[in-house]
Amino acid sequence: RQAEFAKLRDVPAVTADGARISLLTNAGLAVDLENLDETGAEGIGLFRTEFQFMVSEELPRLNSQTELYKLVLDAAGDRPVTFRTLDIGGDKVLPYMETTEREENPALGRRAIRLGLDRPSLLRLQLRALLAAGAGRELRVMFPMIATVDEFRAARELVDVECDWARRRGRPLPATLRVGAMIECPSLLWHLDALLPLTDFVSVGSNDLFQYMYAADRTNPLVSDRFDPLSPPALRALQSIQKACLETGTPVSVCGELAGRPLEAFALICLGFTRLSAPAGGVGPVKRMILSTDLTAAKRGMNNLLGSSAGSIRSEIESLARKLNV
Ligand code: PEP
Ligand code: MG
Repeated sequence: RQAEFAKLRDVPAVTADGARISLLTNAGLAVDLENLDETGAEGIGLFRTEFQFMVSEELPRLNSQTELYKLVLDAAGDRPVTFRTLDIGGDKVLPYMETTEREENPALGRRAIRLGLDRPSLLRLQLRALLAAGAGRELRVMFPMIATVDEFRAARELVDVECDWARRRGRPLPATLRVGAMIECPSLLWHLDALLPLTDFVSVGSNDLFQYMYAADRTNPLVSDRFDPLSPPALRALQSIQKACLETGTPVSVCGELAGRPLEAFALICLGFTRLSAPAGGVGPVKRMILSTDLTAAKRGMNNLLGSSAGSIRSEIESLARKLNV
């Protein structure tokens, strides 16, 4: 199996009927960077910056943040990297950070961008490091757990503040800067018309999006498997995001675990997604699926299934894939 995937490394991810799919990988630490060359991923669709904070004994200083981000950009070369700003708080508590009150429902608590906006010095320091590392090249930054357009506006404003700060000091800025939002909170699904014009791109964090849609804690094994992402509500939600992005010309990717599982990724490309970021182990298997898929026929089949009244359409999607020799 591994040898088979290694052979696919340099083969472009194009469906049997010629549709190009961008297949990227997720990363979080310097050691993950070797996966880029090993898997042949086209870039890093999600770099989880909180990992550096979680393995560190103290708050990483500006320099060590900058160094890591430079290392990542150097390793990626011409391949794009999307840095996701700190996703801590909630259950990801950092031992060295003074804690405030204990939260009853950490997943619904002050995590990710909420913490960043409440402690702007933390987020600004990280943005400063990202801007410095990205000087003279392309920098892509996205914010996690955005629940309202105002949060995105406020976060984006901090980017502007940091750009001004660097400019005043004569520091070089990124050649291009793209700022995006993660779609992880269901609230945004009904405000994409307001959000998308504010963003340069979006990425669907399906792990969190479905956790909140189904009210099922993703870390609690008693409930995390009670719903199937291959279900009409989950897939229709994804479809509405894809359609809204197509209409506004907003680049969109899916970076949750879903994108790294062949059958789920099959469903995603049938919905029209053309950019997937998978965990390293998923890149080969997903590419193999892409190469064998007649996307035009698959899309037609999937469209019929979305109207189903079943709670899960996994077996129907499996049959569709089998019928098409995927
Ligand atoms: C997600 O929620 O789908 C996601 C990609 O972010 P994380 O898994 O880091 O929460
Ligand atoms: Mg998430």
